[in-house]
Amino acid sequence: MQILKNHNLKPYTSFGVDAYAAQFVTVTTLTELKSALALPTPQRLILGGGSNLLFCDDFDGLVIRICLTGITVNESASDVVSLHVSAGENWHEFVQWTLAQGYDGLENLALIPGVVGAAPVQNIGAYGVELGDVCDYVDVLNIETLAVRRYTPEECQFGYRDSIFKRELKDRAVIIAVGIKLAKPWVAKINYGPLASLGADASAVAIFKQVCLTRQQKLPDPNKLGNAGSFFKNPIINKIQFSAIAALHPHMPHYPAGDDIKLAAGWLIDQCELKGYQQGGAQVHTEQALVIVNTGSATATDIIVLAKHIQTTVLARFGVELHHEVRFMGRDGETNLAEVSCG
Ligand SMILES: Cc1cc2nc3c(=O)[nH]c(=O)nc-3n(C[C@H](O)[C@H](O)[C@H](O)COP(=O)(O)OP(=O)(O)OC[C@H]3O[C@@H](n4cnc5c(N)ncnc54)[C@H](O)[C@@H]3O)c2cc1C
Repeated sequence: MQILKNHNLKPYTSFGVDAYAAQFVTVTTLTELKSALALPTPQRLILGGGSNLLFCDDFDGLVIRICLTGITVNESASDVVSLHVSAGENWHEFVQWTLAQGYDGLENLALIPGVVGAAPVQNIGAYGVELGDVCDYVDVLNIETLAVRRYTPEECQFGYRDSIFKRELKDRAVIIAVGIKLAKPWVAKINYGPLASLGADASAVAIFKQVCLTRQQKLPDPNKLGNAGSFFKNPIINKIQFSAIAALHPHMPHYPAGDDIKLAAGWLIDQCELKGYQQGGAQVHTEQALVIVNTGSATATDIIVLAKHIQTTVLARFGVELHHEVRFMGRDGETNLAEVSCG
């Protein structure tokens, strides 16, 4: 295990913005991970594929990149296929692999960047399916005690882009593996958007292809145009606030969210005519208002200033506060849009 000093994080994040880590290690085994956790440092960051992170500054600590690999399969039960997947496996390649084996059920979650170990952190979701729907367990290494403990889905407290790993277990646990259970017989989930036209007898592979096609059309490829996917979460508001806004905007897209209503953040931003709006090298994507892209020379400050402008504009127009989905890392650890400076 090599300890790299003052290491540029740009190649490890999908935003492709310069930022340096005081120390950086890549771990490929549990033993290496434990050794990395023993290194003296003021703070640590666990890094997967870097597709949901914005480094707002250099990081004054140790970045541990998780590259644990391996998949095991248990098909002994008649009603479920159980998969044990190491945290460093690439998520999309894993989805592709399951379909090639004939294990259907992950097709709606195709083409989400990042690694398996990060998937429970924000309970990744797309096209009507979330990780929590297929999660059997999450194996976690406690950073203080180095003990491994298995968390049930209930213990993970999965919510909309949320889990215990963003809250109580933040900075206290490293996910080392995820258990996935795929129900047999498989049932297609095609209620959502462009999948509905596929028809009830669509195969999992057909759904996978449609998801990939739609995503490729809608979302910029981070390998070509730096971005971190949806920059903001879809806001959830109460019914009273919704009625007031809907009276002025009767065609506003909205979805039930328990007792509340979920709005489409991209629609709100688009209504403010911000598509294509640019701040330095950062731009609101011309096709998808929810995505901020790095046109090539964006600094973290460009992205932060642009994000604040979007937030202020949407708040002034609709009275709705947007919260960022992308996680912000400052010099001393996680920060947020309200606290980060634009200097
Ligand atoms: C083009 C694009 C499209 C996207 N589409 C979607 C989408 O449809 N749905 C969706 O939900 N997300 C989407 N995302 C966001 C992103 O892909 C997911 O959040 C993904 O799970 C992040 O994985 P990662 O490995 O890149 O995590 P990273 O960005 O490396 O890390 C994200 C967070 O998880 C923590 N973390 C990572 N690994 C571990 C671990 N092993 N143990 C503990 N903590 C860990 C990190 O510390 C960090 O706080 C998209 C991103 C892009 C760029």
